[in-house]
Amino acid sequence: MARIIIIGAGLSGLAAALFLGRRGHQVDLFERDPDAPPADREACFADWKRRGTPQARQAHNFLGLSSRVLSEEAPDVLDAVRAAGVFTMRRWPSVPEPFAYSLLARRPIYEALLREAVERQGGVRVHCAIDVIGLLARRDSDIPHVVGVRLGDGSEADADLVVDASGRWTKAAEWLAAIGARPWVEDLQETPLVYLTRW
Ligand SMILES: Cc1cc2nc3c(=O)[nH]c(=O)nc-3n(C[C@H](O)[C@H](O)[C@H](O)COP(=O)(O)OP(=O)(O)OC[C@H]3O[C@@H](n4cnc5c(N)ncnc54)[C@H](O)[C@@H]3O)c2cc1C
Repeated sequence: MARIIIIGAGLSGLAAALFLGRRGHQVDLFERDPDAPPADREACFADWKRRGTPQARQAHNFLGLSSRVLSEEAPDVLDAVRAAGVFTMRRWPSVPEPFAYSLLARRPIYEALLREAVERQGGVRVHCAIDVIGLLARRDSDIPHVVGVRLGDGSEADADLVVDASGRWTKAAEWLAAIGARPWVEDLQETPLVYLTRW
């Protein structure tokens, strides 16, 4: 089994941690934001400070693939999400059955339930208020081999695999450049879409 570091406890990082933990891997999940979710669901929405995910207070519609993956990988989380009042909607009549159900949610509540499952999961450790600031690499050839991360408190953590789930504002391009890795190709498109929510 591998030792895996995941950067970021948003939905991607939490899901990766849970699914890898359930497969028997040792996972260390590093999240920059200091606060754990409040136990009270209303407080999750009203008070939980998630500077790392400013979009979190937008109403979210999680498309059918996410509920299908959850039903296969962590049906207990799907049950908890539904019990907390997140509702499912059969949104796309033309889409095959397993993909057709969206979850309509207040994202902080969905995220809190997933995080609670991660924190209960054996083999997974969640480290809050810790910023990943770079990669550790070994160089046996022209291609650097990532072997861990550098942390904001000056320490380092070793891993067989590092998963970057730090979201849209990832610093991974800079981190890879710093270890001499080939730059990635990024294609950005302007969009006229404006998203406005008023609570
Ligand atoms: C306005 C808006 C509306 C949206 N609506 C929907 C919707 O209805 N349905 C839907 O499915 N998607 C929606 N999305 C997209 C969805 O929010 C993102 O796809 C999702 O948040 C991506 O999850 P993630 O875990 O990859 O990253 P994020 O949710 O961005 O999480 C990244 C995490 O990494 C942490 N982090 C960042 N850098 C570091 C670091 N260096 N060290 C440690 N931790 C770090 C952050 O604090 C954060 O917790 C919407 C997005 C926006 C902006």
